[in-house]
Amino acid sequence: MPFSPPSWTPQLPEVPDSISIETFMFDENYGRHPLGYSKSPFTDGLTGKTYSALEVRERIDYLTRALSKELGFKPDEGSEWDKVVACFSLNTIDYLTLAWAMHRLGGILTCANAAYSAADLEYQLKDSGAKAVFTCLPLLNTTLTATERLGIPNNKVYILDLAPQVTQGMSNRGHKTLDDFVQAGIKLPPLHASDRTWSAGEGSRRTAFLCYSSGTSGLPKGVMISHKNVIANTLQSYLNEEPTRQKIKQGLAITEYTESCLGLLPFSHIYGLIVICHVSTYRGDETVVLPKYDFKLLLETIQDYKLRMLYLVPPMIIHLTKQKETCKQYDLSSVREIFTGAAPLGKETADELLTMFPTWAIRQGYGLTETCTVVCSTVPDDIWFGSSGSLIPGITAMIMTAEGNEITGYDQPGELWVKSPAVVLGYLNNDKATQETFVEAADGRYMRTGDEALVSKSSNGHEHIFIVDRIKELIKVKGMQVAPAELEAHLLTHPAVNDCVVIGIPSDREGEVPKAFVVKAPGSIEESDALLKRHIMKHVEQHKSDHKRLRGGVEFIDAVPKSPSGKILRRLMRDQEKEKLRKQ
Ligand code: AMP
Repeated sequence: MPFSPPSWTPQLPEVPDSISIETFMFDENYGRHPLGYSKSPFTDGLTGKTYSALEVRERIDYLTRALSKELGFKPDEGSEWDKVVACFSLNTIDYLTLAWAMHRLGGILTCANAAYSAADLEYQLKDSGAKAVFTCLPLLNTTLTATERLGIPNNKVYILDLAPQVTQGMSNRGHKTLDDFVQAGIKLPPLHASDRTWSAGEGSRRTAFLCYSSGTSGLPKGVMISHKNVIANTLQSYLNEEPTRQKIKQGLAITEYTESCLGLLPFSHIYGLIVICHVSTYRGDETVVLPKYDFKLLLETIQDYKLRMLYLVPPMIIHLTKQKETCKQYDLSSVREIFTGAAPLGKETADELLTMFPTWAIRQGYGLTETCTVVCSTVPDDIWFGSSGSLIPGITAMIMTAEGNEITGYDQPGELWVKSPAVVLGYLNNDKATQETFVEAADGRYMRTGDEALVSKSSNGHEHIFIVDRIKELIKVKGMQVAPAELEAHLLTHPAVNDCVVIGIPSDREGEVPKAFVVKAPGSIEESDALLKRHIMKHVEQHKSDHKRLRGGVEFIDAVPKSPSGKILRRLMRDQEKEKLRKQ
C-alpha cells in the first residue's frame, strides 16, 4: 500500500483543469480572497513600492495588450510553444505580473536562474525557443551576450525595474521596460483571456512555465509545468496549512488571517515561484521582495516590515546561527515561523536556531521542480527535526527498492516515488528522460525522484518522510542545481583532461560544492599538478556560473571507476570521499 497524507489534513478537491493560472489567482470565482480585501501581493523591500491586488490585475491586463501588439501573440491563436518568453532577472515586484500576463496570452514563461553565466542563459534561451527576454539592469550585459550569440534582436530584450539602490550607475540603453508596456497598454483595446476558449482538460495539457532541472541525470532539461500543476500545488499547500491557520484565527478571535512573508529566494526556482509567489498570493498574504541576499538587509527587512513568515534555504539558516551577536541588534520578534527546503536542514542546525529563537516554528518541506514543488512538509504543531514532514493533500508516495519492489514498512530506505496532480508533464524534447522519470504503476503515474527516503512514525503516530540520501547525479549548491554531466562535458573540452567525474562534497557554507576527479591527458605540458589544477578550475570559472565553480577542488586520479557497461560509479566515489572526510 502506498503512503498517503495523514487523516487530519483536508481532502484535495477536484483541481480546475480548464482555466489558466491567472484566472485561478485573480478571478473572484476561484481566488480565495476577494481582491479588494487582500493585502498587496508584492512590496519592494528596498523602496516600499507596491501595488494592490486590484492594481496587479490591471497591470496584467495592460501588459497583455501591449505584449500582444509587440510580439504578435494572440490569446487564442497558435500553440503555447509559439509564445515563449524568458525571464532572467533578480526578484522584482513585477516578476509575477509578467508571468501571469504570459498566461493570459496563452504563452509560456521560461524562468532562468539569475546566477547564470551568459553561456548558461544561452543554453536555456536556445532550448526553450524564447522569442524575447525580460531582464534587469544588473544582468543586462550577460543577457545581451547570450541574445547576440543567438541572434535574438536587441529590441526583444526588455527590462524589469529594480530599486535605484541596485541599479545605481547602470544605464538602460534604450530597452523598453515592463512599465513602458503597461503605460502603452492603457491606450490599447482590451483582449479577452486565452482560457475563455479552453476545453475541459486543456489546463492540464498546456505548459505555463518552463523551468530547468537536470532530473536524475544528464544536462539541464526544460520541465514542462502545466496550468493545472501550479493550481494543484497551490491548493495542496494552502490546504496543508489550513488547520494551523484555523487555530490561529480561533486563538485571535478573528475571521481573516494573512501573513507577511519574505520574498528573497529566487523566483526563478520552483520553491520561490510556487511556494512564495503563488501560494502566498492565493492566501492573500503580502510578500516583501528582496533582489539579493545581504544579511544585514535581511534582518532590517524582517524588523521594518514585521515579517512573520520567512522562506529560507539551509545555508541561510546556518549563516543566521553563526551571526548570533548581529541578530541581537535587530527586533526579530515578529517572526512566527520559518520554512526551509531545496536541500536538507541538519537536525543540529535546527536545534541551534531554536535555542536562539525559542518561539519560532522551524518547518521543513521537500519538493522538486518535477513535482511542481511541495511533496511533504512539517506544520507548526507537528515538527520533528530532520524530517521533511508528512505528505500534503492529494499526494501518494511509494518507497521502492533498486529492483522495483515496494517497501511498505517503516524506517527502511528506498527511492521515493511520488504521485500527485502537480507532477509535471515531462521534459521538453526528451522522451527518453521523460519515460525514465515518469512511470506508470498499478495505481497511476508516478515520478521517480532519485532521492533516497524512508518513512518513520513519530511518537504521536504521524508518518514523516526523511530524505536520507540522493541516488541521482544532482549536486545542490546553496539550494541551486548543478548537473555533474554539464561540468564533466565542459572539463573534457580542456586539452589536459582525458577523463573526469564530478561529484558533490559536503560544505558548511553552501551545503554541497562540486569536486572534480580528473585523469590527465598523456603528455600534459603543465609545469606542476598545482598549476594544472588552477588552470582547470579557471576553465570552469570563465565559462560557468559562480555557483558551479569547482569549490571542492580538483584531484588527479589514474582512471574513472566505471561499471562493465561504462557507467560512472559515482556512488562509490561519493562514499570514498565521505570516508576520507570522516577520517580527517
Ligand atoms: P529542485 O528541482 O531544484 O528543487 O531540486 C530538487 C531536489 O532538491 C530534490 O530531488 C532533493 O534532492 C533536493 N531537496 C529538496 N528539498 C529537500 C529537503 N528538504 N531535504 C533534502 N533534499 C531536498
